Amino acid sequence: MNNRLALIRERVEQRLDAIRDPASGKGLFTSGRISGLDVREDGKVSFTLEAPADVAEHYVAVRDRADAEVRKVDGVRSVTAVLTAHEAKPQTAGASPAGIGRVKHVIAVASAKGGVGKSTVAVNLACAFAGLGLKTGLLDLDVYGPSAPTLLGIGAQRPQMSREKVLDTLDAHGLKTMSIGYLVDAASPMIWRGAMATSAVRQMLDEVAWGELDVLVLDMPPGTGDVQVTLVQRVPLSGAVIVSTPQEVALADVRRGLAMFEKTRAPILGVIENMAYFETPDGKRTHIFGEGGARRTAEAAGAPFLGEVPIDMSLRESCDAGAPLVATQPNHPVSKRFIEMAQAALANVSRLNKPAPTIQVK
Ligand code: ADP
Repeated sequence: MNNRLALIRERVEQRLDAIRDPASGKGLFTSGRISGLDVREDGKVSFTLEAPADVAEHYVAVRDRADAEVRKVDGVRSVTAVLTAHEAKPQTAGASPAGIGRVKHVIAVASAKGGVGKSTVAVNLACAFAGLGLKTGLLDLDVYGPSAPTLLGIGAQRPQMSREKVLDTLDAHGLKTMSIGYLVDAASPMIWRGAMATSAVRQMLDEVAWGELDVLVLDMPPGTGDVQVTLVQRVPLSGAVIVSTPQEVALADVRRGLAMFEKTRAPILGVIENMAYFETPDGKRTHIFGEGGARRTAEAAGAPFLGEVPIDMSLRESCDAGAPLVATQPNHPVSKRFIEMAQAALANVSRLNKPAPTIQVK
């Protein structure tokens, strides 16, 4: 970090510490309520305010004050302050760390067919949540074509199993992750994968040490068949993000995707249009797969539209290199898109999961 950024950071910390934490009476920073403080070269500052769950509503005003104070610091151009609520429940000795019981929000990333960039979006959105200061996990449920091992650069690492038969996650790029691809040889016959899909999915949800997370992103198997419907009914979702390309055939799929989630009570957090256009270095945009279709389909179905991701070589290369763009180049224009879409999705988690919103983004 250069000196200028270090100085801004110090001033931000001082400003935050000048605000009293209602629970402990100490400064917000000293009391440990602030996590994930990030100061960027372009003057963007983000952090998470962790409120006790039982009095979280009192912290909305504290968050607003923290936001306003940090904005006053010289060199700060914009502020993203995320409010999360943490259960004060101390972890009892011997409690099982396995399962998703302490995950606050499970968000499914789905698409009605393969190849539209669902996994690319899932991984980069997860990195964006982590970058916003949220404790984030990524579960790759695509039993037929797991992509997390490649996208996250996991290589030959294998998760450990404890004596209590709990599987540890593999940590990569600030995420806790698990994938069927970590457990099964890529060369296994498809038919066998299908047969074990259900039990593998159950194991990855219930027998993995997810621990305490703000968000767990599920990279769903593509499609809207029985496997997917069973899955979305089995997991308590805070919402779903649907990925599509702008093409007409893909749009019929978006409608099927929306219909699938209608069968559950999970709200649609939004539709993302991937491969929306290609931009040449002179700034000219070519809409290779058509223009704006996913936005129109989302609007027609009354679902929020989260944004567009262009066809981008750095994004493709980062996927192949196992180094997610958002984690490795957070200032890249495409990474910024993902961060904005993550913020919009979080805002919809709060808005669409009434009554008790636990994450608020400003
Ligand atoms: P899915 O999960 O829907 O099957 P993937 O995320 O695996 O799709 O993406 C399929 C391929 O397309 C991958 O090689 C990925 O790198 C590439 N890809 C996805 N989105 C983009 C994009 N916006 N620009 C360039 N390449 C992309």
